[in-house]
Amino acid sequence: MTKFSDLNLNPKVLKAIEEAGYETPTPIQAGAIPPALDGRDVLGIAQTGTGKTAGFVLPMITLLARGRARARMPRSLVLCPTRELAAQVAENFDTYTKHLKLTKALLIGGVSFKEQDTLIDKGVDVLIATPGRLLDHFERGKLILSDVKVMVVDEADRMLDMGFIPDIERIFGLTPFTRQTLFFSATMAPEIERITNTFLSNPARIEVARQASASETIEQGVVMFKGSRKDREASEKRKVLRMLIDAEGDKCTNAIIFCNRKTDVDIVAKSLNKYGYDAAPIHGDLDQSQRTRTLDGFRAGTLRFLVASDVAARGLDVPSVSHVFNFDVPSHAEDYVHRIGRTGRAGRDGKAVMICVPRDEKNFEDIERLIQREIPRIENPLGHIGAEAQGDAPEDTTEKKPTSSRSRSRSRSRKTDDAPKADAPAQTKPEAAPKQAETPKRDAAPAETRAEPQKDTRADNRSDNRNDTPDSKRSSSSRSRSNRDDRGGRVTGLGDHTPTFIEKSFAERYDS
Ligand code: AMP
Repeated sequence: MTKFSDLNLNPKVLKAIEEAGYETPTPIQAGAIPPALDGRDVLGIAQTGTGKTAGFVLPMITLLARGRARARMPRSLVLCPTRELAAQVAENFDTYTKHLKLTKALLIGGVSFKEQDTLIDKGVDVLIATPGRLLDHFERGKLILSDVKVMVVDEADRMLDMGFIPDIERIFGLTPFTRQTLFFSATMAPEIERITNTFLSNPARIEVARQASASETIEQGVVMFKGSRKDREASEKRKVLRMLIDAEGDKCTNAIIFCNRKTDVDIVAKSLNKYGYDAAPIHGDLDQSQRTRTLDGFRAGTLRFLVASDVAARGLDVPSVSHVFNFDVPSHAEDYVHRIGRTGRAGRDGKAVMICVPRDEKNFEDIERLIQREIPRIENPLGHIGAEAQGDAPEDTTEKKPTSSRSRSRSRSRKTDDAPKADAPAQTKPEAAPKQAETPKRDAAPAETRAEPQKDTRADNRSDNRNDTPDSKRSSSSRSRSNRDDRGGRVTGLGDHTPTFIEKSFAERYDS
């Protein structure tokens, strides 16, 4: 078996690796480090969790250990699709360079230009950046890329998903033709293949896992769930999520919960908080300091549930995540592999549980086809409460505190389900967070639901539908249907009098 000491790394880098507690190189490291140290281009096909960051940082810093950067001319460039990933690479860089005198700058959105300009002006060995921010700096004349000796493209397939490929091509064009390129992608889509054929020169190709394969250490499961009624599905689905979490008990030390839409990320996080689960959202619309705070809390173990969108969580390295819950079936099958890859890292056990509603069944089939295995079915913890439940309201479609009047109920429901303001502290429990006694756990049907089931259900669903494109269409069409139904009945409000503006608008339409 290859040892780090066999890899010709700088002795100071080896010391840092030892201090980080790494014993042997991972396959991507053993495969990528030797050709990278020989100055060759590398094409690494590896997903996150394989140790690929060290796979490019270690040879890069060994190569850069000699020499110095000149003002505004970074000697190497690492491009990452998201701020979080860039920040993570920067952390890795700090760990591995602790005995070297190398400098870095992190160019990401949400951090002031001024601070980063100062660093770049001094000269940096490694520039870690998201493509858009890098180009912003370049266009402001603050950056010269003609001294870049090594360029890394990390998570290229996510760059493609996010529409960054034109930026990447442009950045390639701004760096010297003679640069060395280390290029990493979890999958090789045709567009990625094209880029690598254009910009890499005879690369050493290292593929450590079959395309889109999931780690064997992750136990997977899916609940095929159908709401008792279409308009109750969203709140019942949140209940299923809580029950799935509860079913894992203490085994679930922490979890990332994935939703497809940012609005659902907010709703699910708020709902979980309300039921006494320690959760915070992370997605691209939250400001950077809040995202950082949330991630730090999750990494440190002070936050148990991170509710995330794909983009925000992509490539996040939290070494021990016991569970991943897919609140939604991802619409791209590859995202399933990325999502569940947040758990079961570095050979640890992990569990990934997904909820699949009928409209997601096609996407679900795509996932099973991609991973070439059947995901075991988990019994629906709510049981079969569909139409056969004679229209009984499920236990907690409302997720609200008891209210005494209709208007109060409505306004509170809106407050609960609206997306939180970006500046609202993520971990703050909403005002309506129930004391445990009020939290309807499992079997205890909350009294308020029994008392006013229809009213509360409607209020909750209105909010859910507003945040969900297909459903909001549905909800507006059902609204117009009910308006039509009303036409034959009594008209209230106008009485016998027709306001003149109505007549006027009709007349104008017919005239034209
Ligand atoms: P990555 O795929 O780069 O996100 O790395 C996944 C995790 O593996 C990170 O927490 C690294 O610190 C860790 N790691 C990287 N290389 C090794 C190694 N050789 N031995 C043990 N852990 C490692």
